[in-house]
Amino acid sequence: METIRTIAWMKEKAKEARLEQRVIGFVPTMGALHAGHMALVERAKKECSPVYASIFLNPKQFGPREDLSKYPRPIEADTAKLEAAKIDGLFLPDAAEMYPPGFSTYVQVEGLSERLEGKSRPGHFRGVTTVVLKLLEIVQPHFAYFGRKDAQQARMVQRMVRDLNVDTEIVLCPIVREADGLAMSSRNVYLHAEERKAATVLSRALRAAAREMGSGVRDALQLQQAMHKVLAGEPRARVDYAEIVDAEMFEPLVRVGRRSYAVVAVFIGKTRLIDNLLIEAKGEELRTEL
Ligand code: AMP
Repeated sequence: METIRTIAWMKEKAKEARLEQRVIGFVPTMGALHAGHMALVERAKKECSPVYASIFLNPKQFGPREDLSKYPRPIEADTAKLEAAKIDGLFLPDAAEMYPPGFSTYVQVEGLSERLEGKSRPGHFRGVTTVVLKLLEIVQPHFAYFGRKDAQQARMVQRMVRDLNVDTEIVLCPIVREADGLAMSSRNVYLHAEERKAATVLSRALRAAAREMGSGVRDALQLQQAMHKVLAGEPRARVDYAEIVDAEMFEPLVRVGRRSYAVVAVFIGKTRLIDNLLIEAKGEELRTEL
């Protein structure tokens, strides 16, 4: 696996692969890699060659009071994991090269970027779409792999790629969870033992909504109440939102539709965690992954 540190060299590699008519796969990450990231890598490896991953802790997507300075950066362990997965290259851009003095161009997906995560974390999505567009320009992938753990983010990136005619297909992959249901996240390391136990409340709340749907409930308010009831039972949890939204625009629903999400964002102590459940209608039946 080659480590690529400059934008020029990454572009050179991409140009070469495109000229050779090879199919470039790309997995952008912020590092502190876990099985969720590695599932994206495995999927990319199945479908593409060469495969590139990037690790870039993007300062533009963190708010001034967020966790940029304490975000885990285990670069050696991350490199070893990607090496073992036998990808072709790890792109490690430098923040000073990505954002040179005078950097002043941003990409924003209107509407979608203002709801839920966008509302709770002002400026966050603008930082995400800007860096993702830059990375797609540099790596020139045919396919880029994103996790449904960040469903709203992935949807926004799909919208950006469509709106701006970027020559990359965005592939969404399922959420990878710990055995007790907690969605894997680089931020889970912030949780101390008691908080770690409490953190299962997110997936338990989603499961409660899935159970209600299983018994025929379609009313979004009722499903939301089922989630809130579980969340209220966990004293360490402070709810940011727990909603039923449509899977396209992430707008609140009155009734679950053909493709919807139950989405939750919850503070456990100082750590903010998110999770979601994709709800798909198959005839009269609703299918979920939980
Ligand atoms: P991050 O390093 O947090 O920016 O995440 C990089 C990519 O990995 C994003 O597309 C995430 O949605 C995805 N990802 C993070 N956690 C998981 C998970 N538990 N399951 C699947 N994908 C994930």
